[in-house]
Amino acid sequence: MDEFELVRRFFRRDGAVPGVELGIGDDAALLNPSPDCQLVMTMDTLVQGRHFPEDLPPEDIGWRSLAVNLSDLAAMGAEPRWCLLSLSLPVADEAWLAAFASGFFQLAEEAGIALVGGDTVRGSLAVTVQATGEVPRGGALRRAGAGVGERICIGGAPGEAAAGLQAWQSGARGGALVRHFARPGPQLSLGLELRGVATACIDVSDGLLADLGHILEASGGWGAELRDADVPVSADLAGWGTEESRQAARYGGGDDYLLLFTLPAGAPLPAGCSEIGTVVAEPGIRVLDATGKALSVVGWGWKHFP
Ligand code: ADP
Ligand code: MG
Repeated sequence: MDEFELVRRFFRRDGAVPGVELGIGDDAALLNPSPDCQLVMTMDTLVQGRHFPEDLPPEDIGWRSLAVNLSDLAAMGAEPRWCLLSLSLPVADEAWLAAFASGFFQLAEEAGIALVGGDTVRGSLAVTVQATGEVPRGGALRRAGAGVGERICIGGAPGEAAAGLQAWQSGARGGALVRHFARPGPQLSLGLELRGVATACIDVSDGLLADLGHILEASGGWGAELRDADVPVSADLAGWGTEESRQAARYGGGDDYLLLFTLPAGAPLPAGCSEIGTVVAEPGIRVLDATGKALSVVGWGWKHFP
């Protein structure tokens, strides 16, 4: 099976797609952006053994490689439109490719994004996805924009993916926590809902504290006070690990791909979201217990080049 055959069999989809004048098959894709929109572009590479475990099923690798990109679009308040896929494969294994494509297109169809091209090379297993979305001109959410006194909110209960990865590493191959890691759900509709409402937004890929730090830094060097009792603990996470490991997962665990955002006074909290703290002038992030005392929290997120 050569590259053309591989692409035709596993990645080319027939049928007209909005905005796609030419998709897979020519030298490059030819796209028609919507009028009065800005393009929002992102790219992420997943390397086997580094960004996902060696034995993660190919369906999950396919889903996840797109999910992490869609989450970036969600964090910008963008609507997904088109994506490119670069695959580096040690061998062209048909069963592997079919499973990978199945996970990838499951999410692509759900999210309404079209695969319009890519590249296929031989090498150690790595997957790069480039995704493009659209926002009405001037309407994108950004990391900068949080103001002192504003409410810090999160789109769900953090820490499940980190717990799921640890469960995987200790041998679990199923269950809700593992699924949170293997199949993160990008919060695309929440991103759209936050447009024109949230003053700053990011997706939590490195950990709650680390990603909140990015918002605060981009917004002018503010600090934050988080109320530990208000940072949700999901039912799945509640039954896992020790108090300390749950805390590390909630505050330091990456891979959840929840949206973290700030709301000005009066803005309604979207369904499923929690208000977890406040932006303050004094730099640094403090996590407070129910009595207002600062907790020393473990885990400051993942850095590739610490
Ligand atoms: P070129 O040699 O001009 O780079 P390729 O032979 O790499 O072109 O690709 C031929 C067509 O197949 C192009 O439209 C390209 O975007 C598409 N393509 C290649 N690999 C992939 C892939 N993994 N997924 C989707 N489309 C792909
Ligand atoms: Mg090529």
